[in-house]
Amino acid sequence: MSKNAVLVINCGSSSLKFSLIEPISGEVMVAGVAERLLSKHAFVKVAFKGSKETTPLIVPFDHQVAVNFIVEFLHENNLVECLSAVGHRLVHGGEEYSTPTLIDDVVKYSIEKLSKLAPLHNPVNLIGVNAAEHAFPDLPQVAVFDTAFHQSMPAKAYIYGLPYSLYEAHGIRRYGFHGTSHYFVSKQAADLLGKPFTKTSVITAHLGNGCSITAIDNGKSVDTSMGLTPLEGVIMGTRSGDLDPGIIFHLIEQLNYTPEQVSSLLNKESGLLGISQMSNDCRTIEEAIINDQDERANLTMDIFCYRIAKSIASYMASLSHFDGLVFTGGIGENSDLVRSRIVNSLHLLNIHLDDNKNTDIRFGKSGLISTESSQHCWVIPTNEEQVIAEQTYQLIVGDK
Ligand code: AMP
Repeated sequence: MSKNAVLVINCGSSSLKFSLIEPISGEVMVAGVAERLLSKHAFVKVAFKGSKETTPLIVPFDHQVAVNFIVEFLHENNLVECLSAVGHRLVHGGEEYSTPTLIDDVVKYSIEKLSKLAPLHNPVNLIGVNAAEHAFPDLPQVAVFDTAFHQSMPAKAYIYGLPYSLYEAHGIRRYGFHGTSHYFVSKQAADLLGKPFTKTSVITAHLGNGCSITAIDNGKSVDTSMGLTPLEGVIMGTRSGDLDPGIIFHLIEQLNYTPEQVSSLLNKESGLLGISQMSNDCRTIEEAIINDQDERANLTMDIFCYRIAKSIASYMASLSHFDGLVFTGGIGENSDLVRSRIVNSLHLLNIHLDDNKNTDIRFGKSGLISTESSQHCWVIPTNEEQVIAEQTYQLIVGDK
């Protein structure tokens, strides 16, 4: 049995996703998720050897209990001896971390300091790190940062039009997120083209509940739509994306919103959900368009797709040449409607879809969906866990 397996942990505020991956072959040995953590309805779902099981968790229903469950599961199935390391998804690595990093007390301290920039993410990511350290004290723990791939952006892409002192004193700049996903799918696109990654220039559209667009020039991220926080950029499931900053003052000064109410409005009540007043789920909006000819749903989808198309077109200013466009994420991988509405606004970039391929390539399939004479346009399912496993393994093997 392999002794290289990496346990990948992605810890959210009320969930903890995990998978045991053989990093060389990419085989997923176990995959699971603990959900509704910190509530008495907490449970863990595990897929192993073709079967799926759901188990309720015990008091105190927290992340440590979830990790203890994973440890016991691995012991019961004689999988602990396969483990070489634990790889963690960390959201914000600031300017300090542009590569995967072995976690020690100094790294933990600086991740904690970076919580100022990512208060919703870094503290819960650290809970996962502490729980895994407690459960596997002898295994190396590695952090793979969502922001790392975007650290190659030039200053002209990451400095805001604000006093420069805010950047110097407080680190207020564009960082970008979903970096592991943008890296994975752009590398896959290079493989599909048969070109070295360092000579491949693509635009990647990661469209899920969170959405971001990235310009990758010769294998390096040179611009991305999310900013200091994941709120900037295109419209998302519940996030507004870009807006006139004056709206925030209007809400506070004229409509008596508190800062907390503004934050909740922009992060949780806007986007697809806010415009449609129906759902943040793209499927529900599509069904309302197709089954009920619902006008608001149609408008919501038009706004969503137009803003994404504008963001993609703007990145022509960022690239030295253009090899193609990649769709990924839950919406990008599955919604032929969204893909065709976006690409319909991009005909001046010579991107045209083959309707049959666009309809066919969904639900986990990968491939070209453009016509023969068009610029390339691919659907490539993302696999952040695979990247985290590979990078964790490379780091610890390199360290030996
Ligand atoms: P993610 O955050 O990448 O897991 O993506 C989640 C989003 O993908 C959901 O909110 C849905 O809007 C969208 N999605 C998943 N499956 C489909 C589908 N078959 N058609 C359209 N959208 C989908």
